[in-house]
Amino acid sequence: MRPLTLGLLGHLILSACSSPPAQDTPPSGHVTVFEGARVIVGDGSAPIENAAILVDNDKIARVGRRGAVEVPAGAARVDLTGTTVIPGLVDAHSHIGYMKHLTSGPQNYTREHILDHMYRFAYFGVAASQAMGSDFGDAWYGLRDEIQSGQYPDAARFLTAGRGLAPEDEVKPDNMRHAAYVIRTEADARTAVQELAERNVKIVKTWVDDRGGSVRKLPPELYTAIIDEAHKRKLRVAVHATGLADAKALLRAGVDIFAHMIGDVDDELVELFKQHPKTAVLSALGGPRRQIYAPWLNPTHPLITETVRPEQIKRLRDRLASEIPEARTRGEANWARLAAGIRRLNDAGVRIGAGTDGGGQLGDQFIGWTMHTEVENLVAAGMTPAQALVAATRTSAEILDLDALGTIAPGKSADFVVLDANPLDDITNTRRIARVYLRGKEVDRARMRAGWTGARVN
Ligand SMILES: [Zn+2]
Repeated sequence: MRPLTLGLLGHLILSACSSPPAQDTPPSGHVTVFEGARVIVGDGSAPIENAAILVDNDKIARVGRRGAVEVPAGAARVDLTGTTVIPGLVDAHSHIGYMKHLTSGPQNYTREHILDHMYRFAYFGVAASQAMGSDFGDAWYGLRDEIQSGQYPDAARFLTAGRGLAPEDEVKPDNMRHAAYVIRTEADARTAVQELAERNVKIVKTWVDDRGGSVRKLPPELYTAIIDEAHKRKLRVAVHATGLADAKALLRAGVDIFAHMIGDVDDELVELFKQHPKTAVLSALGGPRRQIYAPWLNPTHPLITETVRPEQIKRLRDRLASEIPEARTRGEANWARLAAGIRRLNDAGVRIGAGTDGGGQLGDQFIGWTMHTEVENLVAAGMTPAQALVAATRTSAEILDLDALGTIAPGKSADFVVLDANPLDDITNTRRIARVYLRGKEVDRARMRAGWTGARVN
């Protein structure tokens, strides 16, 4: 945990204790205490019952049992009795700006549409989302920085790997790799990483996958150059690689993040993770499990009807219903393998973050919603609800170097979700969202919902 932000606390103590405040120390302005909730801190510790969270402007100043937290005179009070508060969720793997109603592709990718997606994440209690290599053009880094500077208080933070780095065969005009730099040589790899570093990207995305033998995958000498150049510039490398042999080679080469769960796990892989304890795995279990488990479509969960048009919901329902039995059987086997792998990595203490691949080009990975099915998937795979919540909050924030997010603790940004039920009792209670706060301010979910479901078309 980070040390207390002494400047902030000092400021609070001054504004709380000096009455009237000294003229050269203006009162803090917006100090609010949120009282009475059960607070799940996000670090795996026991929840704080009947808690108080003291928020100074956009930051959490104090957290503890109600009565044990000193509240400055004049602080606003918000009664959260009967609710459960969790940290803002963090989706560490998504694709932003592509999906729009029945279409999903680069034609939808505009600044306004990226922003719409960041509002959708916020609606679902997701405080930050990391786009994994599908951004292109000039809109992304400007908007990323504007959101970061607080210009859009209702938007989740937009993190991005910018353009990914892909081998030639991966890049097709109609897939998300169209955005990628084509990497044919070591020099290509280094130039692309340099350009991304200049745009303040923190994580570089690449792909090492032969797509069932249909493409020539990125060879070791090229991904080694990507990793080397990235590390020289203090960037980290996230890789799409699901094959066991590739995963082992990438671990040995020093890769930082697996963007998806690896297809198989054996003793040697577990051993390699122990030798590289900082290397993280993002779950992205949603695709495989949705094929066999999507009860939230029958009936459709309100959060989906509030954010997704009926024809898009119908298409997914039809798609799942029309699946041939063999495909379903394969899907079940695939899910069982991935779930067993997650259990093994989790038991071995491997860092597992929650990534969802939300917004992907299939068109049914609904933005924001996938975060809530992903934590359910993690529990179905064998994590406890508390572990799944840590994965989706603190661990994901750490993997993305988001110091301000991840837990409800002094010094953190005041990003939290108020739930009407306890997700430690049933992980699907993360969907019982009453309110969302980002940077200390309540997100206007009613206005967003009206925009998506009303006559106004975005
Ligand atoms: Zn992806």
